[in-house]
Amino acid sequence: MNAEIISIGTELLMGELVDTNSSFLASELAKIGVEVRWVTKVGDDPKLLREVIERAWKRSDITLTSGGLGPTSDDLTRESIAAAFGEEMAVQDDLLEHLKGLFVNRGFPMPETNIKQATLIPSAQTVPNDHGTAPGWWAEKDGHVIVAMPGPPREILPMWTSTIGPKIKARNPDVAIVTRNLKTFGISEGGLDEMLSPLFQSKNPYLGIYSKQDGIHLRAIATAPTDAEAWELIRPMETEIRRVIGEDVVWGTDDDTPESLAASLLQAKGFTLGIMESFTGGLLASNLADVEGSRHFLKGSAVVYRDDLLEGHGVDPKLIEEYGPINAHVAEDMARAARKLFDADVGLAITGLVADPTDASGPVGTSHIGFAIGDSVSSTSGHYPTSRLRLRSRASTHALLGLVRFLNGLPPQSLSMRR
Ligand code: AMP
Ligand code: MG
Repeated sequence: MNAEIISIGTELLMGELVDTNSSFLASELAKIGVEVRWVTKVGDDPKLLREVIERAWKRSDITLTSGGLGPTSDDLTRESIAAAFGEEMAVQDDLLEHLKGLFVNRGFPMPETNIKQATLIPSAQTVPNDHGTAPGWWAEKDGHVIVAMPGPPREILPMWTSTIGPKIKARNPDVAIVTRNLKTFGISEGGLDEMLSPLFQSKNPYLGIYSKQDGIHLRAIATAPTDAEAWELIRPMETEIRRVIGEDVVWGTDDDTPESLAASLLQAKGFTLGIMESFTGGLLASNLADVEGSRHFLKGSAVVYRDDLLEGHGVDPKLIEEYGPINAHVAEDMARAARKLFDADVGLAITGLVADPTDASGPVGTSHIGFAIGDSVSSTSGHYPTSRLRLRSRASTHALLGLVRFLNGLPPQSLSMRR
């Protein structure tokens, strides 16, 4: 079964409103095995809207529209479906009663313009909307369906979950989709692509590669009549990926994040953490603070942006004098100092140089990450030539994944990434 999504509203074309409805609907349709073939944005123009709706209705099994169900004269979705189907809209007494009731509850009279929210065409049924005045339409003609939904995300989400999603799923019952996301760090996208090239030929499971802030993700999607059969397809592919790229490279799966892994490891071991960070400007602590229950293990973070203030935070000035501030020895000493400063079990520190994108010959983004626990310290370095913003986030990911390895007694990976 295939589908098409149409997001309606001139504000979408002006860049004033980000079209989140279509990505929501696309991801929901993928989960129930419906292939989305087109996503269109169109303004509140009756001629263009009718054209787009008519084309979608003819070429797609299911068309989902969002927006244009409001009461005003530029909300034209119903009119356009009626025109495409060649049918007349008629006010439904029961819908009108219901609509008037909503306004009585709100304590003001219903404007005349809202009457069109109580209309139907012969080929359409209403879809209840518990969060707004505009009901949706489920319109079906010649074996093709158009579902018209309201624009506000807080209306479309519950409408999808309670009615439309299950109704579409019921038309497509024997499809189960399973996805498996393997998250990697340390090999470039091109490198992975080359290593795994035979697997990228596979249609089912389908393997995709995505560059994300926390590394490169490999996502396998399998389609089968049941979940169990889909998993049967995915498992051998996962085994093969891990064999080819190495267990070490895969740091997590599915919903894992660097911070969630570091947090659960710290908590499992009953360790507290103190941080000292420079150019990441608090990002490291901020990422960890996103994890629920972070106050149980995160004691604090000192953002020491200027090198001349390191000494005041307990870092040995002789090391800075000898090696300069951006250096593995200093990173280790910062980790030691962070542990002491916050009276924590584990110290984590990051120091580095932000790339200057205007200076091609200058130093690229380099960071040194220090780890301390008891008397043991260790460090790793990273080299990630990328924009300033991405650099901070790469370094933070590297530090958290390094911490996970350090706590597991593995040597941290040093990184030099070309992408
Ligand atoms: P409408 O039903 O077209 O009048 O849309 C009502 C409101 O829903 C808009 O003002 C937006 O706030 C929101 N909205 C409409 N379309 C979208 C969309 N594609 N993505 C996210 N929000 C939307
Ligand atoms: Mg609109």
